Amino acid sequence: MTSSQTASDTSFPDRIPVGISACLLGEKVRYDGAHKRSDYCQDVLSRYFDFRQACPEMAIGLGTPRPTIRLVASDGGRQVSAIQSAEPPRDVSAGLAAVADDVLQGQADLCGFILTEKSPSCGVFRVKTYDERGGLLHAKGRGLFAARLLERQPLLPVEEAGRLNDPHLRENFVLRVYAWHEWHNSLLPALSMANLTAFWARYKFLVLAHNEAVYRQIGPLLGSASRSALPAVAEQFFAWLMEALATPTTRGSNTNALQHLQGYLKKRLDAVEKKSLQLLIRQYKEGSVPLIVPLSMMRHLLARYPDDYANQQKFLAPYPDELGLRNHH
Ligand code: SF4
Repeated sequence: MTSSQTASDTSFPDRIPVGISACLLGEKVRYDGAHKRSDYCQDVLSRYFDFRQACPEMAIGLGTPRPTIRLVASDGGRQVSAIQSAEPPRDVSAGLAAVADDVLQGQADLCGFILTEKSPSCGVFRVKTYDERGGLLHAKGRGLFAARLLERQPLLPVEEAGRLNDPHLRENFVLRVYAWHEWHNSLLPALSMANLTAFWARYKFLVLAHNEAVYRQIGPLLGSASRSALPAVAEQFFAWLMEALATPTTRGSNTNALQHLQGYLKKRLDAVEKKSLQLLIRQYKEGSVPLIVPLSMMRHLLARYPDDYANQQKFLAPYPDELGLRNHH
């Protein structure tokens, strides 16, 4: 990036491969022959994500309509099975896990997955789980397809479609998908200490805004790395990066990152510009304007008074502005 560029000029990948439960795209594959179309996924995210759909229950040959499946806990809750209420009842747990294995093996380029909430196959957070006599044990289980995906790829950005209605969760998921894509498509194929250091330089303020503790760990990790340890260091770096980005930001933590960025402009701004920027950062901190407002001003000023280090920060533009994800932050 040259000094005349800003992070807002960053060209983003065309469409990023992301897995999705087929019923969210309007496919009539649910047990009752219906779909569960997600307007946000279909109408908005599909412009940015190359959706690869999967219906694990159809993939194991259950057909539609079909008898429902339930999660059933046994062995004191240590074992959870997906049982189809057929006559006799049928355990489809292994089949659902095998579909997850096939999806991950066949589509190694996936950068995230959007799943249907409450499903005993696809649900991630709040799936009803029963005891062996049919009594409801709790409603915080995980569908067995989703569980296997996360067991195999614990860092993969995975979210439920219903939770994407929350602007913070939505922003956080998209952010992690873009970071995952850049890591696997730009950094890993050309892994070197220099490239890893440059990658970290771009993500620093974003990580600072999300998780200051991780921000402080990464510098020493890279500083102590020897050439032979590079693969292990990169693996640890990426685990910490994804952990940090999954941590929600607050107005306070974003303000902290904005103020750090402001430091790179201080000597170049005239008194009016300085005052205007400080006012917008304060208004953001107090909750009267969204994050996009001080960020737009910051980007404008960095275009006018470029600084190589500040201009490259992912914090300025981690994904396309058109997604409007920082209008509610
Ligand atoms: S929730 Fe999952 S298993 Fe159920 S219909 Fe949708 S894609 Fe298929």
